[in-house]
Amino acid sequence: MSKVRVRFAPSPTGPLHIGGVRTALYNYLLAKKNQGDFILRIEDTDQTRFVEGAEQYIKESLSWLGISPDEGPGIGGNFGPYRQSERKEMYQPFVTQLLEKGDAYYAFDTVDELEQMRARMKKTGMQPRYDTTSRMSMKNSLTLSKDEVEKRMAEGAEYVVRIKMPRKEEIKFHDEIRGYVSVQSNQIDDKVILKSDGLPTYHLANVVDDHLMGITHIVRGEEWLPSAPLHVMLYKFLGWENTMPKMAHLPLILKPEGKGKLSKRDGDRLGFPVFPIEWKDPSTGEMSMGYREEGYLPEAVINILALLGWHSSNNEEIFSLSSLVNEFSLSKVNKAGARFDIDKAKWFNHQYIIQKPEKEILDDFSTYLKSNNIQKNDEYLLKIIPMIKERANFIHEFLQEGEYFFSPPIEYDSKAMKKKWKTVGVEFGKEFLNKANQLEEYNAENLHQLFHQLIEEKNVGIGQVMPTMRLAVTGKAGGPPIFEILSVIGQKEVQKRFTEAVTKFPV
Ligand code: GLU
Repeated sequence: MSKVRVRFAPSPTGPLHIGGVRTALYNYLLAKKNQGDFILRIEDTDQTRFVEGAEQYIKESLSWLGISPDEGPGIGGNFGPYRQSERKEMYQPFVTQLLEKGDAYYAFDTVDELEQMRARMKKTGMQPRYDTTSRMSMKNSLTLSKDEVEKRMAEGAEYVVRIKMPRKEEIKFHDEIRGYVSVQSNQIDDKVILKSDGLPTYHLANVVDDHLMGITHIVRGEEWLPSAPLHVMLYKFLGWENTMPKMAHLPLILKPEGKGKLSKRDGDRLGFPVFPIEWKDPSTGEMSMGYREEGYLPEAVINILALLGWHSSNNEEIFSLSSLVNEFSLSKVNKAGARFDIDKAKWFNHQYIIQKPEKEILDDFSTYLKSNNIQKNDEYLLKIIPMIKERANFIHEFLQEGEYFFSPPIEYDSKAMKKKWKTVGVEFGKEFLNKANQLEEYNAENLHQLFHQLIEEKNVGIGQVMPTMRLAVTGKAGGPPIFEILSVIGQKEVQKRFTEAVTKFPV
């Protein structure tokens, strides 16, 4: 079997939707699983939709996620150029070939004439399109004489080239996810393959490039399924049927409600990003949030996207990129759309935060603290990170979660104060701290031991005395193990906070 070569072929028309990122990921996984190549091709033949910065954005997103292409613009490779606008001359011979074989024709119709044709067809209850029926009433090289066509060309008239769809043919192909798909050729219109600006349309450029780049598998979103029969026809016309890549059309990523494709508007409405990294619209200046800036780890985003449309053989959920490479197969991609669930996405991020070594979290956390004008040494931060990370989904939640590690409580949980702030707790706390202040080493283990000794001695319940200590030092009703908190905050500060709380809330 030839080497697996797959491509991710976005059009640089704006930021990359996470559906597109998932397409890139599945392509990457398929390539790496088979020791193949993952290619980035920029499909920019529609110059009217070109957006400045979009290509850079795509590359940066892939690189942040660790799924960088092996070949592509600015990366290199033996099949370049990898931007379609730079391949303009490469398409012309194939257009000529199609024209000469009679599988394509010139069309000179003006916008007005096209409009009139559509209106006419609508009136008679037909599908308004340029197809096997309507083309014979239009101005093209099928209806005009050879002389007339030549005259128009010599005069420099504007024209496009259209594919000539057969009138009655079954177009059948196999999709790796959906099985066999069959379409009648008269259901497809005579699509433009070469535009009046001399550039090919998506359809022709896509097919020619997949062929010239030796692509073995086309893995792309479901929205391209309706174009597939036309592509199959082009492969056939160009004589490449035997080397046609395998096709796999991925299911949609659906709105959280389950109906319809997840859109930017859903993200805005529900407050979550639909783009991998932040994007600033170059014409309006409008900002769109990104997973990276919202505090998601790239490993988590990979895991989230992997499971939106694919499942493992044993339904496990946590997958690193390399374990995905081992496990991935197109046969485990679902046919049905995958509903996006932001709570599940947060859960994944939490799993990766917990797994992440403290030292790796340190830098980000430290930067976050600095932006909040808090400076603490690494040694201190390394002690508290393991305590807080269990309770946070994002690094930026660490500060809020562990506020008391940085400053004494300003507020005290009022509900807990009402219920738990009792004389017995305060008296016990005073005695406990007196004794604790004399410990040779003020550490969690010693504090724990002392506390329990005293509990037995005084014959009080833990629930009567522990919450008082926690409330006084942290202001909160719950959190990481209290003796570890005390040991990190330190003897002097603990004593100070306790005394202050007792003064504020006399019993
Ligand atoms: N240029 C198309 C897009 O923007 C690519 C479709 C394909 O992969 O064939 O999604």
